[in-house]
Amino acid sequence: MRKVYLDHAATTPLHPEVLSLMYEFMRDTFGNPSSVHSFGREAKKFIEEARQKVADLIGAKPEEIYFTSGGTEADNIAIIGTAMARRKKGNHIITSAIEHHAVIETCEYLAKNGFEVTFLPVDKYGIVNPDDVAGAIRKETVLVTIMHANNEIGTIQPIAEIGRITREHGVALHSDAVQTLAKIPVNVDDLGVDLLSLSAHKIYGPKGIGALYARKGMRLQPIMHGGGQERKLRSGTENTPGIVGFGKAAEVGGREMEQESARVKGLRDKLIGRVLAEIPSVTLNGHPEQRLPNNANVSIALVEGESLVLSLDLEGVAVSSGSACSSGSLQPSHVLKALGLPHEMMHGSLRMTLGRANSEEDIDYVVEALKKIAVRLRSFSPLAQPVHS
Ligand code: PLP
Repeated sequence: MRKVYLDHAATTPLHPEVLSLMYEFMRDTFGNPSSVHSFGREAKKFIEEARQKVADLIGAKPEEIYFTSGGTEADNIAIIGTAMARRKKGNHIITSAIEHHAVIETCEYLAKNGFEVTFLPVDKYGIVNPDDVAGAIRKETVLVTIMHANNEIGTIQPIAEIGRITREHGVALHSDAVQTLAKIPVNVDDLGVDLLSLSAHKIYGPKGIGALYARKGMRLQPIMHGGGQERKLRSGTENTPGIVGFGKAAEVGGREMEQESARVKGLRDKLIGRVLAEIPSVTLNGHPEQRLPNNANVSIALVEGESLVLSLDLEGVAVSSGSACSSGSLQPSHVLKALGLPHEMMHGSLRMTLGRANSEEDIDYVVEALKKIAVRLRSFSPLAQPVHS
């Protein structure tokens, strides 16, 4: 059976260049980068090369990059670190209703600890209105945190516009760029962000490593205390193989982005076009143009997202659904809810996220499989049948 992986927003395989560099590094270089001897200095040299590569990919300076254990930790440090450092100035944070859990839950945590959080709504495409950001800023506002692109529906936010507003008001701006890195241009100055979260495993790097960009002069209170690594912001012996892998993934990602994103976008457009044309009662979730080049998210009326995921899995196709069963209840995700989709669409969402290994043949295979599955699942749906008494 053909195997088709269409879940690159969840994670990606290691790029071969990343794997071979990590292998060589783990074989030859084990020193602790904090050690002053040659073994330590050797490891430190690798870290600093990786820091430069990550910085280059987002137009930052290497000293503005802090390695973390991933996107989640970067989000936590950005939000809690800023909130705590600016506590005397104010206690208000602005975010959106469709952020990743790493941001939403961190804001909820602060809300339980004396902060006030405004969750801005989004339009039917999942876009935050910059005027809403301007309208929500108060004198107590210390941070605005809005993701660069959404992990479920792929909608890209107008961060540069939001950045102009936050700068005007002297409020810090954080953006979670985990899904945009190496897919669309991410430049910290063009976006006007003060803080940016990154993760390696979405760009063909290893899991368990990410970074926080913090603009020079940003004050952040650490949330991890100990040996003072990463210029005292993130204590703990560095994940050296992870960092080295992340650096290589950033280098390759930057080098291949334009070509690869254009290729993947072509496949994605074919996938969306065929699904919408060949399966009845299907709608596209997210913005038609302002979306990640690799994201296709559709709702198939009168079927359950969970059933779609399982049925496609039986055909060798890996996808995900914002309508999948999590924690035992068939609740649609907060993202789909925030879009205000009709009930039958909210429950039949399917996220297909493309990547390096996907080909035209994969798309044809998936569309044919999905056509069969949609017919079969709809035949079980009581809502799809005329009701006979
Ligand atoms: N932010 C976004 C938008 C994501 O998609 C993810 C991963 O799913 C994360 C944060 C978390 O990143 P990590 O898995 O590196 O902790």
